[in-house]
Amino acid sequence: MVTAALDRIDVINPATGALLAQVATTPAEEVIECVARARRVQPAWRSTSWSDRKAVLRTIWRRLAAEGDDWAVAIRDEIGKPASEALAGDVIPTLDAARWTVRHGGGALASERLGAGHQRLLQIPTARLTHEPVGVIGMIGTWNYPLFLNATPILQALAAGNAVVWKPSELASWTGQRLQRCLEESGVPTGLVQAVYGGADVGRALVAAGIDKGFFTGGVENGRRVLAALGERGVPAVAELSGFDPALVLPDAPREAMIPTLAWASFLGAGQTCVAIKRVYVVGDPRPWAEDLGSVARSLRVGNPAESPVDMGPLISESARNRFDHQIQSARAQGAQLIEGGAAVPGPGWFYRPTVLLAEGPEAEKTLAGAFGPVVIVRGVPNPAAAIEAANSSVYALGASVWAKDRRLARDVAAQLQAGMVTINEAVTPTMHASAPFGGTRASGFGRTHGVWGLREFTYPRVTYERRPGGFRPQVFPYGVQPVEQALRLYRWLFHRP
Ligand code: NAD
Repeated sequence: MVTAALDRIDVINPATGALLAQVATTPAEEVIECVARARRVQPAWRSTSWSDRKAVLRTIWRRLAAEGDDWAVAIRDEIGKPASEALAGDVIPTLDAARWTVRHGGGALASERLGAGHQRLLQIPTARLTHEPVGVIGMIGTWNYPLFLNATPILQALAAGNAVVWKPSELASWTGQRLQRCLEESGVPTGLVQAVYGGADVGRALVAAGIDKGFFTGGVENGRRVLAALGERGVPAVAELSGFDPALVLPDAPREAMIPTLAWASFLGAGQTCVAIKRVYVVGDPRPWAEDLGSVARSLRVGNPAESPVDMGPLISESARNRFDHQIQSARAQGAQLIEGGAAVPGPGWFYRPTVLLAEGPEAEKTLAGAFGPVVIVRGVPNPAAAIEAANSSVYALGASVWAKDRRLARDVAAQLQAGMVTINEAVTPTMHASAPFGGTRASGFGRTHGVWGLREFTYPRVTYERRPGGFRPQVFPYGVQPVEQALRLYRWLFHRP
């Protein structure tokens, strides 16, 4: 999809280049008004009971479930992935996450009485911890999982009592409009969730519009720009940024059994998945692994998913494909050997052959870092310690996987990986877990989405202390020697007896 004019977005099917729709961009002054409107309606929503909020969330969940097939087709047409993949990787995880929020949100947000502390008896009264909504959340989204990555945090923000103003990616404005419509028609109070449309300019306007917390999903470079702008305003944020995930293949890993999963985890969504495997470190000889991955890559059917059954659709845009190709050619210039792919597919649509590279040293990986397309680079390392060092050498630290028969060794290696999500003999799918926190560390971002951790990102903890009127309190004016000494004596007697 490309932006053809400042006042509208042309929604282009990346598999054909055909115009699907046009979406009006939101002027900056309207973005400010959206945030102001959200601020006006949020107090009423925050004071609703959990069961009222739950009823709205349940309606959204049911509607998404009823429209699952239509969603898969819409995602196929706007993003270019096969409808079956959109259903399995986008629609179903969204339903799971929504169901988790409906079922467990109330418990996760319930207030807690804080446990007794020693000092309470003398100085600190009882306390209650409540999870308070932050206010107006400004969400800036990406396009690769346009339902899952937007609907999940929006529902969690609502569950926690917030208002949301969100900007779908300019590359997913059409499905963005669809999600906004679904929310409005499912009983979300008017103005509580509003979508604004456009590219970086509209994102910048949202960041500056007086939001209380940012939630950004996207690339590291833009993420850091957004974080800097929020930081200047003292606004906190969740940052879900790029990955460059390593897979560590230990010596006993059964190649034949593992190659299909490794290949799938590398090429799903045409490699445009933040937790797709991009680097494979083989302890031992890497060539057979690279060649087997190359065979799978060669066998993949690449094409328009609306026309015939295919395994892989296009990249999202022409400029994304050009950028990706440039990284592949640079990696080759750095000495990576091309095993398979390495070229765009001519014709309408922005297709690229699934690509396997074999490298001898780390140089090519540096050029490839953050590449968002169908590529996997394979390298041999002498032992598990070297594999761990190679995996941790990247600034990206989103997901990582370990592949081995010896599960004790695999766990030992997994424990030494720096990443938000580590999988053993698996990849990608587990990260859709509805209650497990999703997110990275280091350059891949901070904060979490999904489950209790994700829900509480949209709250701040407030502690309310309460004492009985006139309850015993030793530290009051005027300071006299006697009461203080008495209090100290009592304290020593209670807690510091030999
Ligand atoms: P992007 O950074 O180009 O854009 C993300 C969003 O930011 C878009 O909505 C864009 O309009 C907006 N934006 C861009 N510049 C901005 C600015 N200066 N101020 C405000 N908003 C701005 O990323 P993308 O192409 O949408 O997504 C691809 C990247 O996202 C990949 O690197 C991928 O790894 C990453 N990603 C991460 C996750 C995760 O959960 N960690 C999930 C999906 C994708």
